[in-house]
Order: sequence, then structure tokens, then C-alpha cells
Amino acid sequence: MKVLIVGAGIAGPTLGHWLHRAGHQVTIVEHAPALRRGGYLIDFWGAGFDVAERMDIVPALRERGYVMTEARAVDRRGRRIAGFDPESVIESRARYVSIARSDLAAVIYEAMSPDVEVIFGDSVRSLEDDGQRVHVMFDSGLRREFDLVFGADGLHSRVRRLVFGPDDQFETSLGMVVAAFQAEGYPHRDELVAMMYAEVGFQAVRLSLRDDITLFLLSVRHEGPLPSKRADQERLLRTRLGDGGWEVPEMLHCMSAASDLYFDSVSQIRMPSWTTGRVALVGDAAACPSFLAGQGSALAMVEAYVLGTELAMDADHSAAFARFQDRLRSLLRSKQDAAKGLGLAFGPKNRFQLWERNAVMKVMGLPKVTDAVMGRSFRDAIVLPEFPEAGR
Ligand SMILES: Cc1cc2nc3c(=O)[nH]c(=O)nc-3n(C[C@H](O)[C@H](O)[C@H](O)COP(=O)(O)OP(=O)(O)OC[C@H]3O[C@@H](n4cnc5c(N)ncnc54)[C@H](O)[C@@H]3O)c2cc1C
Repeated sequence: MKVLIVGAGIAGPTLGHWLHRAGHQVTIVEHAPALRRGGYLIDFWGAGFDVAERMDIVPALRERGYVMTEARAVDRRGRRIAGFDPESVIESRARYVSIARSDLAAVIYEAMSPDVEVIFGDSVRSLEDDGQRVHVMFDSGLRREFDLVFGADGLHSRVRRLVFGPDDQFETSLGMVVAAFQAEGYPHRDELVAMMYAEVGFQAVRLSLRDDITLFLLSVRHEGPLPSKRADQERLLRTRLGDGGWEVPEMLHCMSAASDLYFDSVSQIRMPSWTTGRVALVGDAAACPSFLAGQGSALAMVEAYVLGTELAMDADHSAAFARFQDRLRSLLRSKQDAAKGLGLAFGPKNRFQLWERNAVMKVMGLPKVTDAVMGRSFRDAIVLPEFPEAGR
């Protein structure tokens, strides 16, 4: 079959890899002019790690990634108030890596066959499914036909909007914004430690990366519309964090000088169905759990793998789409529900939540407590299907 995947992030190239391996003719269209660089660091483990193993990309992930040894909470003077080893939350350090989202995307992209056609700097303008084919018009004016189209274009998916309807039907704001930026030569470094500081309304995280780069991640309570201009985004962050303790003033100083500022809402996507006719959504476009879940990339890979495997096993795309949803719906719903409850860690709403966050952080290192508080929500209750190696 001729298939079109919209989006070359995490889910898109993973799906491209498996659909090509199943013998399909794959085209990917990405609206950015090239693979995106920079961005934020993600933790990667669980069933997504299993998919990475099946794609033989774990050595490349390890080479570009980091294995953090501590998540440490500090007070306004930078003194340690709590900390735990990430290994106590995830299954094992051997099956976990922290890596820039852009590096994960690049590694997956590089694993894809060169026979996959990739079009950068374009997108889909209209999609018309006549029951036999999907007629696609691109922004560039190009017109093509495909047997199936997949929206892997992230939280703000255009495919979802074009085919399933407006965002407000599916997007639930969790009342926060997230911002990420980098600085070179920042004076404070703590190798392989995620340094975390929270006040009522926000959390600021600092991570020391290779080549004297420091990554900052701010999660901030915010209701209402999101500013789209960088100057307004910075103003919003300064207003909320302006009086912050610890290194917050230095961080805000770095923000102005940063070449890129990642800024977005913290939202979830919940849909009654991720497929209709010959179109399916995958990754954040279908079921974004929000960054609070800390697993969106891994889940995007799982979804893409399951979808690719189901389509490799069944020539009837409707049956494959139905099984894709059956296998994943409850897992994704449980991740979304768990993530909703984690908002207090990333941006306590009041002094009581701040106290609660710090109290939980203090006992996180104790194995039984960790498992009770977070562990189970981080386990992936799914058995991945076997990919039929002969393809179709
Ligand atoms: C701050 C932050 C921290 C996070 N931390 C973690 C973590 O620790 N662990 C984890 O697993 N996940 C984490 N996530 C979540 C993770 O980044 C996402 O869940 C994951 O990237 C989803 O992959 P995706 O391929 O569905 O979408 P994306 O990675 O967003 O990729 C979508 C792609 O589609 C392209 N695109 C968008 N619109 C169009 C269009 N109209 N036409 C063509 N192309 C288009 C985009 O340019 C992009 O390349 C975090 C997210 C954030 C914001």
C-alpha cells in the first residue's frame, strides 16, 4: 500500500520504519525544513525501550544519552532537601536513558530505510477520503493519492483538525505551561543530577549536559490563552517566576539570551477513536498524555510499533485499526489519568501542595514507598505483539 505519514517527530519515523519493513511504500511529510534540533531532555524507558531494542537503536541512544543518578530537590538557597535515584522509579538503569528529544528523533530517523520518501518543508492542506483512497493536497500545491494517511504531527495535529474536528473537542488543558531553553557556560553544574526547585505556582529544573551546555525546564501554573510571541511568553514567565529563589533569577537571565525558547501548553488529547476510514492518528496527535507523564515519547513509539505490526499482520486496514486501538486504549487512558495527578509535583497550586510535593520527594528513595506513590503508574501494562518478520 502507498501510505503517507504526517510528522517526522518520534511516532512518525517509528511508524515509517515498521510500515516499510512490512513492505509498504512510505512517504513522510514534515513541515519543518529539517529535523528539529535542541529542545528538551526526555526520560526513556518501559515498553518504548522494548520497541527501541526491536529497532536495534539502543546503542545509538546510549551514545547520545545520559544515565541520571539522582533527582534532587533543593530549597531556595540550593540546599538539598530530598532526592532519589531514578532507578527506584523505573524498572532498571540498564533499560533507561535520558536523551534530548531531538536526538531520539534523529536516531529513529536514521534507522529508517533510505527508501522511505521524506518531504521536508511541506504539510497537508486538505485530505479527502473517498473510501478507496485518500486524496491529499499539500501546502505546496502538490496533489497525491494514498491508500492510508497517518497523523503523527503531535499535540497540535493538523491531521486531527482536518479529519476529526476542532481541537477543543479533544484537548484538555492541565492549567500549566512548560518552557525549555539552553545556555552555554552556565556557572553551576551538577553532573548527572536533575536539580529541581519548586515554589507555589512553578517548578524550575536544571540539567547539566555535555559540551558545557545547561538545560532549563520551567513548568508554570497558567490558565487562559497562551501568548504566541516570544516576548510575551518571556513576560509571562518573568511575571510568575520573578521573585523566585535558588537560581531562578540567573535562569531568567539566560532565557533572554537563549537562541530557542520552547514554550507550550500542558495538555492531554482524549478522543473516542483515533481512526476513521483510511486515516489514523498516532503519538501525541492521538493520545498526548502531557509532559507530566514523562513517557510520551516512549508511548508514541509503542503506538507506532503496534499500529505498524497490526498493519503487517492484516491486509484489512479497518481490522488492523480496531486491534491497534483495543491493544492500547486502556494503557494510554491509565497513563493520562496518572499524569493528571502529578501536577502538584511540577507546579504546586498552594502551600499545602508544595509541602506535599516536598514530603513525597523525601520518601521517594524508599523502594516500597516509591512503588506505591509512583511506580505502578510508570509500569507499562502491555505485552507487545510480535512483528511478522516475513512482512506481507
Ligand atoms: C517539556 C517536555 C518534557 C517531556 N519529557 C518527556 C519524557 O521525559 N519522556 C517522554 O517519553 N516524553 C516526554 N515528553 C513528551 C514527548 O516529547 C512527546 O510525547 C513526544 O515527542 C510525542 O511524539 P510525536 O511524534 O507524537 O510528536 P512530536 O514529537 O511532537 O512530533 C511531531 C512532528 O510533527 C511535525 N509537525 C507538526 N505539525 C505538522 C504539520 N502540520 N505538518 C507536518 N508536520 C508537522 C513536528 O514538526 C514534529 O516533527 C515531554 C514533552 C515535553 C513538552
